Amino acid sequence: MTSETSRQSCVVACAILLAALAATSAAAGRSAQPVRVLVVTGGHGYPTSFYTLFEQPDLVWDHATSHEEAFKGDLRAKYDVVVLYDMSQTLSDAGRKHFQAFVEGGKGLVVLHHAVVSYHDWPWYYELTGAHYWERPHGRTPASTYKHDEYVDVREMGAHPVTAAVAPVRLFDETYKGMWWSPRIRVLLTTDNPTSDGPLAWIAPHPRSRIVTVQLGHGAETHRHVAYRTLVRNAILWSAGRLSD
Ligand SMILES: [Zn+2]
Repeated sequence: MTSETSRQSCVVACAILLAALAATSAAAGRSAQPVRVLVVTGGHGYPTSFYTLFEQPDLVWDHATSHEEAFKGDLRAKYDVVVLYDMSQTLSDAGRKHFQAFVEGGKGLVVLHHAVVSYHDWPWYYELTGAHYWERPHGRTPASTYKHDEYVDVREMGAHPVTAAVAPVRLFDETYKGMWWSPRIRVLLTTDNPTSDGPLAWIAPHPRSRIVTVQLGHGAETHRHVAYRTLVRNAILWSAGRLSD
C-alpha cells in the first residue's frame, strides 16, 4: 500500500467515524431532551417528600397547586405529561376543555393515589383513568373505603416497561377498596391485601394517549421507596412515549 493510498483510506475511515459520531450524538441529543411534566396538586394534603419523585433523571417539572390553575390554558405545546395528585370535584368548562384537548392531543397522563377520588360527576374522567373511588354512596353502590398504614405486598401481572424493576416489593401505604373498575383496564401491579380491591397500578387504554394510574402513594415511606420512585418515573417516561411496549 502506497502512502497516498494509506492517506486516502484514513480519510475515508475518518469520514465514516465522524458520521457515526454525529449520528450517535444526534440520537443522544434527542433522547437527552427531558420529559416536561406538569404536576397538579390541590384539595388534599401530602408530605413534601412527594416532590422528590420528580427530582429524577430525564424529568423537568412545573407545579400547579390547583387543577383550575393547571388547565387554565392550552398545555399541549408546553408539557409532555400531566401528573395528577389533586383531589377535586369541580372544574370549569374551560378547564375541562383544556384537559380533554391535552389527552386527545396524544399527550401523557399519570394519575396518582387520591386523584382517583376526583370528579364523581364527570364519567369522562373516570373512564379515562380506569377506576374511581366513591367518596359517598353512588346509587346503590356504597362509598369506597380506605385503610392507612398497611403493609402491601406488590406483585407484577406480566412484564411491562412501566413496572420494570419494581416488583415484587412490600410497601407501607394506604389501600382503597370498593372502587368502580373499568372492564377495559390492563392491571400491571396487584396485591392480595384484603383491604384492597387488588389492582395497584394499571393502564386505561385510550386511542391517542398513554395513561397510567397508580393507587399507592400516600406518604413519605412510599415516596422515598426506590420501587415506587422507579414506578412513577417509568410511568412518566412511558406515557411520554419514551419507553416502548
Ligand atoms: Zn392518601
